[in-house]
Amino acid sequence: MRPISARMDGLGMAKFDYDLFTIGAGSGGVRATRLAASYGARAAVAEEYRVGGTCVVRGCIPKKLFVYASEFGHMFHDAGGYGWTADAPRFDWKTLIANKDAEIDRLNGVYIRNLKNAGAEIFDSRATLKDEHTVHLVAENRDVTAAKILIATGGAPWTDNSIEGSDLAVTSNEAFHLEEFPKRVVIAGGGYIAIEFACIFRGLGAEVTLVYRGDDVLKNFDRDISVAVHREMQRLGVRIVTKTVFARIEQRAGAEKRVHLSAGGPIDADLVFWAVGRRPATQGLGLEAAGVKTGKDGAVIVDEWNRTNVANIFAVGDVTDRVQLTPVAIREGAAFAETEFHHNPQKVDYDFIPKAVFSQPPVGTVGYSEGDARRKFGATDVYKTDFRPMKNTLSGSEARTYMKLVVEQSTQRVVGVHIVGEGAPEMIQCLAIAVKAGATKRQFDETMALHPTSAEELVLMRTKWAEKG
Ligand code: NDP
Repeated sequence: MRPISARMDGLGMAKFDYDLFTIGAGSGGVRATRLAASYGARAAVAEEYRVGGTCVVRGCIPKKLFVYASEFGHMFHDAGGYGWTADAPRFDWKTLIANKDAEIDRLNGVYIRNLKNAGAEIFDSRATLKDEHTVHLVAENRDVTAAKILIATGGAPWTDNSIEGSDLAVTSNEAFHLEEFPKRVVIAGGGYIAIEFACIFRGLGAEVTLVYRGDDVLKNFDRDISVAVHREMQRLGVRIVTKTVFARIEQRAGAEKRVHLSAGGPIDADLVFWAVGRRPATQGLGLEAAGVKTGKDGAVIVDEWNRTNVANIFAVGDVTDRVQLTPVAIREGAAFAETEFHHNPQKVDYDFIPKAVFSQPPVGTVGYSEGDARRKFGATDVYKTDFRPMKNTLSGSEARTYMKLVVEQSTQRVVGVHIVGEGAPEMIQCLAIAVKAGATKRQFDETMALHPTSAEELVLMRTKWAEKG
């Protein structure tokens, strides 16, 4: 079957060099390009850094490897209660970085192979738009044309450059390649990246201070979750300074930096880290030349079919700033390819997206927070429990597990599940199926407990938390 996008002139010759040209080989761009190529489209993708994008190269994957590394720090400590002697374990940062780099190289190779095997062409180049059908390949200083163009350039860490010394601080991009392990770290922010890196550096033995402008971290999560994570991080030994922001960063002798705050005394550190959000990577992309409209923070505006205001230009993933999560970008990329190159129109369903924060212990959550559920559904039943997991009895660890079910009162449908505790992301991925399928509290109750696990508490909660709404 001929791809829908192949535009032919009167002589049957292709009018454009490609049916699809994708800018950005991250999660969304790779999925879209691979699928389109596998459906017969003449597809190409340009990537200015490394194929795989943020998730594979400097995001989810190396982050999770760092999380595993840092968890050993607590495990050595906890092992004593179980009879192990794990005196004076030593950690070598350079070994971790080298092994992590080797794994990322391997994955990068897999992504490149998968694209090529599907028949897509890869350009190691920055690409910009010249008009709605023309892409300029900067590294090769030449233009190519395409019937359809997909913008999948992702996002980039935002830093507050209005403050003096802003560039003395790193972002997550650099944190994966530090030459030396920092003994003292100061992190700005209270979202995903700030929390995850604070726990990573703390677990690996650093002194960590988190500087957050609000009260409890993870503001956009269920309130009980943000309070629990805040408390667990403090238990881990992370110092959290609230209601203040970086005011100035000063270079001191050697590698030392001094962070001056808008309120409170200064903090000295070897590493200062911005984790204050990511913004769509659209600067200098030539969107104006192609007539593509952008919105807040430069995000490409798209409709539910991933279409921009220009008929043949599309966008998926973080560059559209809808939901900044890898699996969402992948789904959007697939939906785009199915719709445009496979006669199979698909829209992404954004309801009940499971989310995890790889704090220690981690967070897993799906559906509505208690506050959002009350606003949307009115009367809401809430079930909560918090306990010391069995593993922590002999270890002596004080870390607790928190669980919360949010139930729409009129239908008894479970509309939110929120967990902080070991294994929470794994539990939530499975629970998300039940929640998305509309399971009721009664069906949770009817499900047999699996003993002894922490997860069994999810089907054993019987007493409603005091009604508020
Ligand atoms: P987040 O949006 O999660 O958090 C940003 C944090 O920075 C918030 O605490 C915010 O405060 C604070 N902040 C924003 N602006 C300022 C400012 N001007 N001064 C001081 N503080 C500020 O962004 P991240 O950078 O942590 O992560 C980016 C995105 O990447 C996430 O939203 C997530 O979608 C994705 N991600 C997902 C991960 C996962 O799935 N596990 C892991 C890492 C990233 P406030 O709370 O008050 O708004």
